[in-house]
Parts: sequence; C-alpha cells; structure tokens
Amino acid sequence: MFTKNDKFVTSHLSQHSEWGIPMPNHKKNYVTAAKFMLHGGDYNPDQWLDRPDILEEDMKLMKLAHTNAFSVGIFAWSTLEPEEGVYHFEWLDKIFENIHSIGGRVILATPSGARPAWMSKKYPEVLRVNAARVKQLHGGRHNHCFTSEVYREKTQKINRLLAEKYGNHPALLMWHISNEYGGECHCETCQEAFREYLKIKYNHDLKTLNDSWWGPFWSHTISEWSQVESPSPIGESMVHGMNLDWRRFVTDQTISFYEHEIVPLRELTPTIPITTNFMADTRELIPFQGLDYSKFAKHLDVISWDAYPAWHNDWTTTADLASKVGFMNDLYRSLKQQPFLLMESTPSCVNWHDVNKSKRPGMHLLSSMQMIAHGSDSVLYFQWRKSRGSSEKFHGAVVDHDNSRENRVFKDVTQVGQTLEKLSGVIGTNRPAEVAVFYDWESNWAINDAQGFGVRTKLYPETVQKHYKAFWERDIPVDVITKEHDFSSYKLLIVPMLYLVSEKTISRFKEFVANGGTIVMTYISGLVNEHDLTYLGGWHKDLQEIFGIKPVETDTLYPSDQNSVTFRGTTYQLNDYATIIEVATATVEGIYEDDFYAQTPAVTSHQYQAGKAYYIGGRLEHAFQQAFYQDLIDELSLKPVFHVKHGEGVSVQVRQSPESDYIFIMNFTEEKQPIVFETIVRDLITGEAMEGELTLEKYEVRIVEKTNEV
Ligand SMILES: [Zn+2]
Repeated sequence: MFTKNDKFVTSHLSQHSEWGIPMPNHKKNYVTAAKFMLHGGDYNPDQWLDRPDILEEDMKLMKLAHTNAFSVGIFAWSTLEPEEGVYHFEWLDKIFENIHSIGGRVILATPSGARPAWMSKKYPEVLRVNAARVKQLHGGRHNHCFTSEVYREKTQKINRLLAEKYGNHPALLMWHISNEYGGECHCETCQEAFREYLKIKYNHDLKTLNDSWWGPFWSHTISEWSQVESPSPIGESMVHGMNLDWRRFVTDQTISFYEHEIVPLRELTPTIPITTNFMADTRELIPFQGLDYSKFAKHLDVISWDAYPAWHNDWTTTADLASKVGFMNDLYRSLKQQPFLLMESTPSCVNWHDVNKSKRPGMHLLSSMQMIAHGSDSVLYFQWRKSRGSSEKFHGAVVDHDNSRENRVFKDVTQVGQTLEKLSGVIGTNRPAEVAVFYDWESNWAINDAQGFGVRTKLYPETVQKHYKAFWERDIPVDVITKEHDFSSYKLLIVPMLYLVSEKTISRFKEFVANGGTIVMTYISGLVNEHDLTYLGGWHKDLQEIFGIKPVETDTLYPSDQNSVTFRGTTYQLNDYATIIEVATATVEGIYEDDFYAQTPAVTSHQYQAGKAYYIGGRLEHAFQQAFYQDLIDELSLKPVFHVKHGEGVSVQVRQSPESDYIFIMNFTEEKQPIVFETIVRDLITGEAMEGELTLEKYEVRIVEKTNEV
C-alpha cells in the first residue's frame, strides 16, 4: 500500500521559481528547495537607522556567522509610512542592497503585525474589541480587527507598494506575511461578519442553527439573526456549538484577511513563495490553539513556524521535550507533506518563560539539527541583533549588546552556519512514513469546552504526543496528520482521544480498516459530532462495527486513585480515565484490576474485514504505550529507515532522497551514549567513514549519509 517514492519531492527547480514552486494554482509536487539551507533570521534595521556604523557592522557579522537569509520589515510600518501617505523606502532600498552585496537573501515581511499610531488615531475602527466588549487602545502588536475594511485596505496598499518596489529585486527570496497571526476581535463589524458566516453555513435557516446549537437549553433558542453575539465572559460562553462555530469563524476570518493581504503579491510577484509563521503554545510545546492550521496550511506555499522549546527546564527531561519538538515538526511538515521552514528560534534564551535559561554548550547545534532532521530547510532566528530598548532587549540574538563576534552564542551560530553549508543534499528531501498519528484542532477546542471528565486532565495534545513518543523512541518515522489528509496509504493510524468526530470521518476510518489498515483509538473518542452534539443511542454504530465493542461509561480518577491494567501479562498503572467496555465481537487484550469494573475489558482488538482495530480504554503509564506499540511494530513490520543501536534519549531521524539517506543521530541526554552502526556510512561534516561502535558526547549530534543504490 506504500511505495517508497510516493512521497519524495524532487529537488529540481522549476522554470517558475527559484524554489521550484509552481504557483499560484499549484496542487501537488511542491518543492520548497532553495539552493541553500537558509540561515539567518529576523533583522530589524529600522531600529538602528541613526547608527549607520551598526548597520555596516551587521553586514560583516552576517558573513562571519555564515548567515544568508533575513526576514526584514516585520514591524516596520511606522518607519515605512510615518504619516498617512508619506512613505520612506530609502532605508529599505539600502538594506536590500547591503544584504544583496554579501550574497544574502531577503524574506520580505508585510508589516500588518503592528500598525502605526496615526492609523489607530484617525481610524479607530482598526482597533480590536476584546471578548468582554472592551475596545482596546493603540499599543502592543497583533491588536487589529481582521474584518475592518480600513485595515484591510491600508494593509493591501502598503503590501502593493512593497511588491512594486522590491518584487523584482534579485535579493527577494520569499514573502513573510504579517507575523504570528492570532487573536480575535468582537467589534460590531466582526459580529455582523459572524452572523453572515452563520447564515451561509446554516442556509439562512435559523431552525438549523438552533438545532445545531441545542437552542432550547437554558432558553437559548434565537428568533432573529441579530440576536447572535459572539462568545463572551459577560454574555454567553457555554453554548458549545456556538463556541465551535466562533473559533471556525475566527480561523476563516484570519485566512480571509491573509488572502486579502496577498492579492497584490500574487498579482505582481507570482513566482515568489508565500508563507506566514505558525506558532506553538510554548511551555508544553503543543500546537497553537487559536487557529486551525489544518485549514490555513492550504493557503500557504511553504509552512514555516516559530519553535521555542524550553530546553534545560525543571519539569521534563531533555529527551521528553525533544520528542515533543519531533511531534511539532512532524505535524507542521505533514500539513503540506513537504519540507518546512524554521522561521524563528533562539540562539540562546527567550524572554517570556518564568525562567529564561541559556542553551548549554552543544544544545544550539543539536536543537537546530533536530529541526533539519524532521524536515526543515532552514535555521532562522528571532533575532539577529538584540534591541536596545523595550520588551525584547534581553531576548536571545545572534549579536548581543556587546557587538562581539567572540562570545559563545555568536560562535554557536557560526558553527550551525558552517554545518548547514555541508547539508545541501538534504534540501528538499522528505520523510516518508507508514505510521500516522491523528491530530484535530476542532476536537481539541470541543474537549476543552466539555464540562465533564477532569478539568485539568483532558490534555488532548499532550496525550497525542505521548502516543507519538513511542515511535520517536524507536526511530520510526511518523506523519502527524489531520482530517484534511488522505490517510489511506498508511499501515497504521493512531487516533488518541478524538472526542469530536464527524460521521464523514468515521466512515473514512471504516474504509481505512476495511481495506487493510490498522487503527488504534482510545478512551473519550467519538463522543460528539461536528456541532459538538453527542451521538445518541450509544457509540456510533460504525465505530461499534469497526472495534467490535461499545464503550459504555468513563470513570474519571483523582490523582490519588489507584488502579491498573494488566495487558498481555504485565500490569500498568492507570491514571485519569478508565472507560468501561462492553465487548461484542472483539478480543480482550487487557483488563482493569480494581474498582467496580475490575476484571472487565480495558484493551481490545478486533479484526474488521481486511484490517484490525484496537481500543485502549484507560490512560496508562508510558511503559504501556511502549509495550503495546512494540507488538504492533513487530506485527506490521514497521522499521526505522536506518538502524542504529542506542540507548534511551538518543534519536535517529532520517531525510530521504532517491539517492541518499541523510541520518541525524542526536543525543538528548546529559550523559555519554554508546551507539553502534550496522552499516558503513559517511560523516557529512568530517567526511570520515563510520562503522561499528561510537560514543556520542552529551548533546552531541552526528549527521551521516548512506548512499542508496538507485
Ligand atoms: Zn472587529
């Protein structure tokens, strides 16, 4: 069902674009390959225009640091247009020339992430209104109304000027649209837009809307569209169907704003690729919750994201955090099934954690190479140079206030640059996978709304990450996919805690298993439909057919509650959730050990037509996932692309082209780790041939190449 070449992207550059992306109406065969790995990051010369000496020094340091690509103008609107209709591009002309003169490239930003004060003053409609219906003052960033006609018009105008001015500049590499889109506006214009969105969605039929929102509950049936008000802490926040529709609307409205931004860019620069930088929620490193990126991804040429894992923290191990980084990368790579860009990262520390710790020696190269290993074609930073004032003056940067080329961070960055220069073969290569882990933004929104289960223990993204980790630990490539993807080609599909699932998706699961796929589903899955309305009459009949069971009740545990599950002879600790299962035609693989459901089924398997379906009823300690998936890995003959013997905390990730496998062997532990190669490979950095035993130092990464017989 899977052929190795299916998911390779070719690295040939098309006639359309240096990046080879057929645009704008491309459908498949994306190529994100530039001719070089991008290394550089956010460059804010607009903060230093009265210091030509520093701008000149930047060019010298950029060359020294082996950097080549810079995101420029992200927050430069007040410099580009200090007064309405008064434009200053001469400084940007000079920056383009400077970067071009050192062989660098510009990722040109549209400035809509923060607007100038004159605009807020003259056109107050651009100001955001928060959920409590309080109009915000000018200030901060990301604080505008996405529906405002004025803001849309002003943004398109400045974007058009940028495209006219720099669209044909040889240094222009790609467009960076706005910055970290997020947030929502509840102004009256947005309320009207929400009502229009609902009218279309519900065919102008209020009864359909009331049915979908379970209107009669607390007398919430509405009789006119004007009665719709977005969710608010001073109004309604418990109509779950509306909450879900509001979040969908926010995603759609943000995409609509983005689409409006790029009109002049598509028109004037059809061969320049377009991206916007996605985010993660930072402390736990889970997907950003505010927007459904599975929808947004379709509108971008290249996915890029800002990765800020809190290395060396005191709540998780380095290896555990590394597996979360792996998950995030594989999710964002899988959104378009092509290489992505690391748009922002820090060379040292950030400025928003409770404790902003410096990367220990070795971690910068290791963490940068991990991004490449999972599919990035860049290592880009926020920020090139530390600002002198305001909130980001102590955020990590390539160049510190000391302007030194001798400090540790600058040297670490230089080392990454030198390493990237040796990885040109990796550019454009992908990571074919036979295993897919399923993630769904809408289901996450809905389960977080659900008043029930454990308030602090829903942890949907974290749960998905734990299932992913069982494969990361064994070096088996995984795609993290969404319902927007075709999953028919995978051998194994893992669907943890999919609380919200439509009948359409259920029927796709059914088809997948019927055709020979193996599916794993867990507790708290398949409870509500796409309107967040529960399924009636028990679990959906198609799910019952696939799994041969009926989950009948879910018990929620206190942290102090003790229970366990015995699975294939070993007993594992149970936490948080236990679903009681009524077995029809399934085989019982594990049983609960305690409480009123002791000795009843906890884990089941079921042959359904040509495939197999497993159901895991309880949230179990990680050792269970390891044992459970090891059996499946053996049964389905899932293998690492390249086998390296190693201990816990070492990760081996591979990018593949038809000609070569590029293998990244990474030690995410604080100890030396012995590893054993079973095949001769060539170290890409030193050029030496390697075979047999080797020791990885703490945080060491080795990158090797295995040439394939074509
Ligand atoms: Zn608004």
